[in-house]
Amino acid sequence: MIDQLMKMLEERESEMIDIRRYLHENPELSFEEEQTATYIADFYKDKDVEVVTNAGNGYGIVVTIKGGKPGKTVALRADFDALPINEELDVPFKSKKEGVMHACGHDAHTAYLLVLADCLIQLKDKIHGTIKIIHQHAEEVPPGGAKSIVEAGFLDDVNAIFGIHVLPMAPAGTVGYHSGYSFNGRAYFKLRVQASGGHGSSPHKANDAIVAGAYFVTAAQTIVSRRIDPFNAGVVTIGSFDGKGSFNVIKDSIEIEGDIRYSNKETKEVIDKEIHRIVKGIEELFGVSCALTFEPDYPPLYNNPELTSFVANTLSKVKDKNIKKVKEFPKMAPSDDFAYYLEKVPGSYFYIGCTPKGVKEPYFNHHPKFDIDEDALIVAAKSVGYVVCSYLRKEDAY
Ligand code: MN
Repeated sequence: MIDQLMKMLEERESEMIDIRRYLHENPELSFEEEQTATYIADFYKDKDVEVVTNAGNGYGIVVTIKGGKPGKTVALRADFDALPINEELDVPFKSKKEGVMHACGHDAHTAYLLVLADCLIQLKDKIHGTIKIIHQHAEEVPPGGAKSIVEAGFLDDVNAIFGIHVLPMAPAGTVGYHSGYSFNGRAYFKLRVQASGGHGSSPHKANDAIVAGAYFVTAAQTIVSRRIDPFNAGVVTIGSFDGKGSFNVIKDSIEIEGDIRYSNKETKEVIDKEIHRIVKGIEELFGVSCALTFEPDYPPLYNNPELTSFVANTLSKVKDKNIKKVKEFPKMAPSDDFAYYLEKVPGSYFYIGCTPKGVKEPYFNHHPKFDIDEDALIVAAKSVGYVVCSYLRKEDAY
């Protein structure tokens, strides 16, 4: 069956490119992807599958392909939102929307997965188990679409999940993988320090919010330097200190905002706990009252080691003209809400090289000149095709 699937994909390579170009020309921002979702839903019209639209907190679409033979359930995900970026690339299929661009390759993700899904639908009598295709809205803007799709129960009967991201750090034909923690997690915090103001001449009759806030800023620097295991990575950035007042008035309140990054869950917990501890200390030390909001958005992305080895081994063994190299990629600093799926079920998020042909220093994802080599589409379709079919045939698939 795998050979048949690969042949079908090869025959439909130009269709993947056409779909990708259509989506590229018609990008939509996160949570506003109404037309894109309609386009995707229309693609499945008259096909013998169950399609759920408006999945989760937006325009998500979940398609269930039930195989003719019993087996496990595996999910595949592609995101479809674009970014608030004005495209600076000069291509015939340039974005028609001023200020909106598919600058992260989600157009390519959607294009390959639509065609792969259609081929799998045609072969479904031969499939062992069930394949759930998740077309996910709003990856770029927290809270994102993934969390709501998990919360709506779409992964409750899923045994494993796979997904890919196109990255221009390797040429088309290269597939990358990383086991364990692979993308950083992120959180936002806001601290309001409420003191009691007074006359600049009489500090003993007031409580100074600026002094208390300044101590917080200083103490927060010790979280990463003194509390984080040196083998883990964490960042605490205070990006805003709002304390503007008058030179001879003791300020009664200030507001601080910051950005937190962490490479794993344990580090997040340490930072969370320490910030709360410092705030308590500041309250005690200065007699002020504090309101702290600590809002984690995307968790760190954890690729299941066994399934990541499975992906790497499966793709290393195939003899396929489109898959030329399989290699380990480094950890990535950004975040991706695919991490929520991986908190729910084991799986692997891997990478498809897409450096544009003839380019030595490619522009990275989210750049107004971000571009891909469209040869990456067939590589994505085939790689995920091999992985899903091999997974479902695995005797001990878990
Ligand atoms: Mn992306």
